[in-house]
Amino acid sequence: MSSIEDIVVTVTIDAECDYDPNWIRSKPLTFRSIQEGLPERLQPAFAEVGAVPTYLLTVEVLEDDACVQTLRSLQGDFELGTHLHAAFIEPQKKFFDYAGVDSPDFQCSYPPDIEYQKLKNLTMLFENQLGYAPRSFRAGRYGLSSQSLRSLQRLGYRVDTSITPHIRWTEPNATVDFRKAPQQPYYPSDEHIDRPGAASESTMFEVPVTVKPRFMRNPLWFRPWFSTVDQMKDIFRYHVKKHSNQRVLSINMMFHSMEIIEKASPYPQNLSEVQYFIEQMQEALQWCEQEGARFVSLNGVRDAFQTSTDLSR
Ligand SMILES: [Zn+2]
Repeated sequence: MSSIEDIVVTVTIDAECDYDPNWIRSKPLTFRSIQEGLPERLQPAFAEVGAVPTYLLTVEVLEDDACVQTLRSLQGDFELGTHLHAAFIEPQKKFFDYAGVDSPDFQCSYPPDIEYQKLKNLTMLFENQLGYAPRSFRAGRYGLSSQSLRSLQRLGYRVDTSITPHIRWTEPNATVDFRKAPQQPYYPSDEHIDRPGAASESTMFEVPVTVKPRFMRNPLWFRPWFSTVDQMKDIFRYHVKKHSNQRVLSINMMFHSMEIIEKASPYPQNLSEVQYFIEQMQEALQWCEQEGARFVSLNGVRDAFQTSTDLSR
């Protein structure tokens, strides 16, 4: 018997400058992924299926006035949050020209106060450019620690989506180990990011990226291009079965804005591949809805779980 009453599907997108097919920032630096990708490709595609994306914005996007203009006039349903690549913001900023540069740092390898100041500067940049405070976050290269979560909490964030269960990242400059992290949303404990702690209104809520573990192989991601539609259906069914004791179930699709611009990532390299990516994404999302799921923003996932807790009291 399944206790699941509510399946919420969210789409979380790292929204950055264009990269090149080797995952290096474009040179010269371009922003097709924001200026064209969001209004012309992604928002119409999400509107067709009724999904509510959350775009997590990097420093260089928020510093670019044309990008901010695009974001301010974006149509349809969406949430905006932040995404930190720590080498690109003060203090200890390493690059002033971002063109042709890789992402060399995990934010959590900086001293706590430096990491906090970087997050604060990113948050203030968001507020200055968009006029309100961000509530959602993802760390660049998933480099999040308990220290990072405490900083985010101090800055008023509510939801993080940096955790990739079953995966251990060993590059570029630290080890981030999420192998034991929960597959479904939780309130991380103060000391151990990969363990549930006490829930409270002020505690950060973690919405892990949706993956399915595989024996002796890398996990499958609920992500277009990385997985076929059939594989995404399989991941969805795996979560429904494995977490049938929950009242609310979360499915979190992630990718980057650059992936729907040809040659701006290692993935689609021409327009027909972009079209294929978007069609696969829409097909997987539509199938989830047929299975009874509804679409929410990243903060909407927290709301769904909170409502459920209230009801069960
Ligand atoms: Zn990133």
